[in-house]
Amino acid sequence: MNTEHDSHHGSALHVNDGVEQPDQINRAAVERIKKSKRRQLSDDEFVKEILDGNRIVLSKAITLAESTNPLHHQQAQNIIAKCLPHAGNSIRIGITGVPGVGKSTFIEALGKYLTAMNFKLAVLAIDPSSSRTKGSILGDKTRMEELSVDANAFIRPSPSAGSLGGVARKTRESIILCEAAGFNVIFVETVGVGQSEIAVHSMVDFFLLLMLAGAGDELQGIKRGIMEMADAIFINKADGENMKSAARAQNEYKNALHLFPPAQSGWIPKVGTCSARSKLGIEKVWETITEYSDFTRENGYFDQRRREQKNLIMYDAINEGLKSDFYENSEVRKKLPELIAKLQADEISEYVAAQKLTELYFINKKQNPSKPR
Ligand code: GDP
Repeated sequence: MNTEHDSHHGSALHVNDGVEQPDQINRAAVERIKKSKRRQLSDDEFVKEILDGNRIVLSKAITLAESTNPLHHQQAQNIIAKCLPHAGNSIRIGITGVPGVGKSTFIEALGKYLTAMNFKLAVLAIDPSSSRTKGSILGDKTRMEELSVDANAFIRPSPSAGSLGGVARKTRESIILCEAAGFNVIFVETVGVGQSEIAVHSMVDFFLLLMLAGAGDELQGIKRGIMEMADAIFINKADGENMKSAARAQNEYKNALHLFPPAQSGWIPKVGTCSARSKLGIEKVWETITEYSDFTRENGYFDQRRREQKNLIMYDAINEGLKSDFYENSEVRKKLPELIAKLQADEISEYVAAQKLTELYFINKKQNPSKPR
C-alpha cells in the first residue's frame, strides 16, 4: 500500500522513523511488582525478588514469618533458609530507652543522616506488649514521618503481641530477610523497661542506650543490667536549657560505667550527649558505632559474637520448643492440676511432682511421637 509516508520517500518531506524513546516507567518492574502482589509466589520466586530488593515481597515474606498459619510458617522457613547465605552483611544496632526519651525522633534523625549517605536502613522493633490495635511501637503512622517515605529506608512495626521468645524470633528472622534484600544498617528498637532488652541485645552487634538528664535511674526504669549491656549511652534532649544538665549526666554515667567489669569485647563504652530534635551530636553517635565496628572487627570479637549469638538462639529455640511441647501435651495437662493439689497439700515434694510430670511426658511421647513445631 502506498501511504503518504511512503510517497514522500526520498523527498525533503520524508519523515524518518524516530528513535523509540525509552519508557519513563520500568514497565517490566511494575508488572513484576503487580504480579507479586496478586499471586502466590513460589519459594524461589520469593527469594529472587527479595535479593532484587523488592520491598513488597520482602514485606510479604516477613508477614509469612509472623503468621501463625503452619503452611505460611513452613514457607517462611524455606525462604529464610535460602536467604541466609546472602544475609549478615550489615551492622545491627539495638536502640533502647524509656518511652518519651526520644527514640523515634532519634531514629528519624540518625536514619535520615544515614540514608543521605546512601546507607540502606531497616528499622525493626521488639515490643512484646504491643498489639496492632493499641498502637504498637512503630505502628503509629505519625512516627518517623520522613524516614517512612525515604527510598533508602524500610520500617516494619513490632510483630504483634505474643511471648517475648516468639516476638524476638520473628524480629531475628526479619533481620535475615532485610539483610538479604540489601539493607546494610539494621536498627532494632525496643522500650527500655525489661526483658526485651536482653532479647534485642542477643541479636545485635551494638547496643545503644538513650537516657535523659536530670531523671534518676529509677525514674527512667533503667536497670543496672541494661546499662551494663550498653556499648554507648547517649543523653538525649541535650538542647536549650537541658544542655548543662546533660553534660553533668554525661560525666555521671561515665563514672558509673567505670565501676562495671570490662566488657568481653575489650571496648570501653562511650557516653555522649545529643539532641535528636535539633539533630545535634547525631554524627557523633554514628562515629561511635563505626569506631566500635572497626575495633571489634579488628580484634575478632564482631564475628565471634555473631557466632555465639547463633548458638544461643539455637539453644533458646530448643528450650522454647521443648517447653511448649511439654505444656501442650494432653497427658501433662490432665495430670498437672492433680499434682498441684497434692503439692499444695504437702503430699508430694516439688521435685517429685516435676519428675512425675516429665516421666509422664516422655512415656506419652514414646507412644505418640509427634513433631513439635
Ligand atoms: P519515644 O517514646 O522514646 O519514641 O520518644 P519520642 O521520639 O516520641 O519523643 C518524645 C517527646 O520528646 C516528643 O515530644 C519529642 O518531640 C521530644 N523529643 C525527642 N527528642 C528530643 C530532643 O532531642 N530534644 C527535645 N527538646 N525534645 C525531644
